Amino acid sequence: MLIEDLNKLKEDIGKEIDKVNYHIRKTLADIRVKVFGKSGSLTALSKGMRDLPNEEKPKVGALINEVRSFLEEKISNKEKAFEEQELVEKLEKEKIDITEPSNDKVGAPHPISAVLDKLTDICVSLGFSVVEGPEIETDYYNFEALNTPKNHPARDMQDTFFINENILVRSQTSAVQAREMEVRKPPFKIICPGKTYRNDSDSTHSPVFHQIEGLVVDENISMADLKTMLTILMKRLFGEDTTIRFRPSFFPFTEPSIEVDVSCPNCHGKGCQTCKGTGMLELLGAGIVNPKVLEISGIDSKKYRGFAFGLGLDRTAMILNSINNIRNFYRNDIRFLNQMK
Ligand SMILES: [Zn+2]
Repeated sequence: MLIEDLNKLKEDIGKEIDKVNYHIRKTLADIRVKVFGKSGSLTALSKGMRDLPNEEKPKVGALINEVRSFLEEKISNKEKAFEEQELVEKLEKEKIDITEPSNDKVGAPHPISAVLDKLTDICVSLGFSVVEGPEIETDYYNFEALNTPKNHPARDMQDTFFINENILVRSQTSAVQAREMEVRKPPFKIICPGKTYRNDSDSTHSPVFHQIEGLVVDENISMADLKTMLTILMKRLFGEDTTIRFRPSFFPFTEPSIEVDVSCPNCHGKGCQTCKGTGMLELLGAGIVNPKVLEISGIDSKKYRGFAFGLGLDRTAMILNSINNIRNFYRNDIRFLNQMK
């Protein structure tokens, strides 16, 4: 009797489990309770074991176990299949179509960052290492180590923000060069890009602006090396037909010092509004490093010489993008920035 009931239970519940499909998958839990629960059908039948004669008990016990594991396995196989299907459905639902067109809200580097990236790439390809330094600087590295002692008239060229007598926000990235010359052994080639600060504000000057300075220290450095390097740099930045022009100038940290003009990339030297009809644009300051500067930093000026150059990234970005007011870079006007993409 019990054996028949067990076989019937196995068959009936087995069919019931087979009928469960994905959409009514929760009924599997109900079946589990109905069969294996405290007052479940298999539990009830198992209790009938007690009334059986001893010799029948092993046989019925084995059958109970067989029915139990058969049904449990059937249920868990179904559950596993449903879980997999659920996962597939979820992935399908959350799939992102990468071929869908974007909504045109893609950003772009700021024009100053774009110029910095371009110049850095060019310089790195020419063997320069990129070095950065602190924006809050000591008077020593910003001026004195660059052969500009206190009360030197050249300090007037840079209207500097002093925090106290010895601390300032750097007025030139040359301060980084002064720091690097102390720790590096020649030969070396470095560029120092970064923010600089001066009390200056009009359509072509901003109190915060950006410079990039280059320094090469090696044996037998001459003006010819400087000219070659700057020609390559400017050609790569503004185009192959760019020419450069040297004019004598003065900086305390270079001797001789020069101002470097480049042919106007807008009119290619013919004369236009950007270059005020001259065909040339003032862009860089440069020169052969003053031996005194090398000595202050502990470099043997009898053995080594160097050349240095510096240019304003803001001005370069203005020229490259034909912008006439530096303040546009800092207004964060989305209409302006969209044009710069
Ligand atoms: Zn021009």
